[in-house]
Amino acid sequence: MADFNAFAVAQQQIDTCAQILELPSSVHEMLRAPKREIRVSLPVKMDDGSVKVFRGFRVQYNDALGPTKGGIRFHPDETIDTVRALAAWMTWKCALVDIPLGGAKGGVICDPKQMSAGELERLSRAYIRAMARFIGPETDIPAPDVYTTPQMMAWMMDEYSTIRQKNQFGVITGKPLPVGGSAGRGDATARGGWYVIREAAEVCGVELDGAIVAIQGYGNAGAYAARLATETYGCKVIAVSDSKGGITNRNGLEPDAVARHKADTGSVVGFPGSEPVSNEALLELDVDILIPAALENVITESNAPNVKAKIVGELANGPTSPEADDILHAGGVHVLPDFLCNAGGVTVSYFEMVQNAYMYYWDLEQVHRRLDATMTTAYRAVLDVAREYNINMRQAAYVVAVRRVTEAMQLRGWV
Ligand code: NAD
Repeated sequence: MADFNAFAVAQQQIDTCAQILELPSSVHEMLRAPKREIRVSLPVKMDDGSVKVFRGFRVQYNDALGPTKGGIRFHPDETIDTVRALAAWMTWKCALVDIPLGGAKGGVICDPKQMSAGELERLSRAYIRAMARFIGPETDIPAPDVYTTPQMMAWMMDEYSTIRQKNQFGVITGKPLPVGGSAGRGDATARGGWYVIREAAEVCGVELDGAIVAIQGYGNAGAYAARLATETYGCKVIAVSDSKGGITNRNGLEPDAVARHKADTGSVVGFPGSEPVSNEALLELDVDILIPAALENVITESNAPNVKAKIVGELANGPTSPEADDILHAGGVHVLPDFLCNAGGVTVSYFEMVQNAYMYYWDLEQVHRRLDATMTTAYRAVLDVAREYNINMRQAAYVVAVRRVTEAMQLRGWV
């Protein structure tokens, strides 16, 4: 997979959409590339007294619909192209769920698992000092993503507030509750995904009570998805995995016990009563619902023909290659594309910004009700377009989102 380039995939998806919508070339060109990219070098004092220089990025892809928004990833394999792709997907995601925001993404090349809390705090603050002039509650609002946490968001918000000399809770979302976080943010991505899966199950005739589920990835997205699957929808989660491998039990796994085992041992692997399963084999298990919730490009043309799930709910970003998309669609698999299925996180992030601006906070029930309405409306809009144009769900989601961004660019007189 060495030659995989997430941004090439993102551009390919836009090209297909431009064809379907017969977009003018100026619009197509504008949508194919980021509006702004920022690259920074971040010197950080390490615990041993040395100074290490980290490379960081922020890509602000398109702000036609509003201030840009997107997470920050701390990952050793981060590249500018990954960040570009994720920023593009954020643009379509915000447009798709019809919130008044554009798309951005950030990243730092680092290995947080090898860093102390103090080093991570200094890196988080250094990133914000370098980016302060380019971000802000009305400009660009970051959030957590892979290997970044609510604690890091609190440090980042604090650094930005120090620079601006006033509390600026709205500069970043995914914060802990006492410093301007929103109720319901923790499991928002998984919960939003499940609202969409619930609608899809009805369309596909899948009875959720007792449905068989496999989940790849057991972090924020995957672990909450497992818990909601069993507790809220009565499904049976028969396989889960993380970077160290997977586990399966045909009788069903108990998500909270698996989470405790992972917290104690560092992995889901070795969970009592389970059999080992590889991350590759997990994707091909005989299940009703498959939830990729880890990394990009895991369902490709080589394994797509072997996917047996009726519904694929993409909580991860970019888990399915374009070739695999065609194969799954032809095979009748109902794919809930990433920027629809995992839009719950950004939706509640948007709710967090609104609450920060008003300094008035909602209860959990209110957050869930608004999230359900947002996700359900988005799913139906995508399904309607998929049926109208006879295209797959990802292409339909692009059509809905790109139409909205294009209309805003045209009304603003950009293109
Ligand atoms: P996380 O860091 O909490 O968890 C990532 C999980 O993936 C971990 O369990 C890790 O062990 C596992 N993993 C890593 N490499 C793997 C591999 N090669 N095979 C199998 N598992 C592997 O991250 P997260 O927040 O849960 O994000 C997961 C995915 O969901 C990412 O693609 C992210 O962009 C996407 N996403 C997350 C959110 C959110 O709110 N957390 C929102 C939208 C999209």
